[in-house]
Amino acid sequence: MTKYSVNNKCPCGSDIKYKKCCQVFHKGKLPSNALELMKSRYSAYVVKDVKYIINTTDVNNPDYTIQTESWTNDLLEFCNTSEFKNLDIIEFIDDSKESFVKFHVTLFINGKDNSFTEKSKFIKLKDKWLYVNGEFN
Ligand SMILES: [Zn+2]
Repeated sequence: MTKYSVNNKCPCGSDIKYKKCCQVFHKGKLPSNALELMKSRYSAYVVKDVKYIINTTDVNNPDYTIQTESWTNDLLEFCNTSEFKNLDIIEFIDDSKESFVKFHVTLFINGKDNSFTEKSKFIKLKDKWLYVNGEFN
């Protein structure tokens, strides 16, 4: 597994070094809103921080399972076969308990274009934003 350099620009497209951007969330700081969470989850896919993806997924997500090991393997396989090219944020509907982010991901899987647009739903439980599910359009 190749490691993403912390001095590279953050995968989320912020123009800031990874170590000063999404890595702070991967290390435990809580995102202050759903957009930060969404971007940091995207970055987690790029740097293959599968644990972060799992820890920020709500129990009501269709992929959620208590079989953490097989879930981890599935995510790792997805990360390893995917080449994430770009993240574009289209819309952010911010609210205190439930927020939505619409985005476009440019993505190649095994060299094939699998780019998609998704509107994701996030909820806030106590202080923590979680990814609930996404709608493709
Ligand atoms: Zn970032």
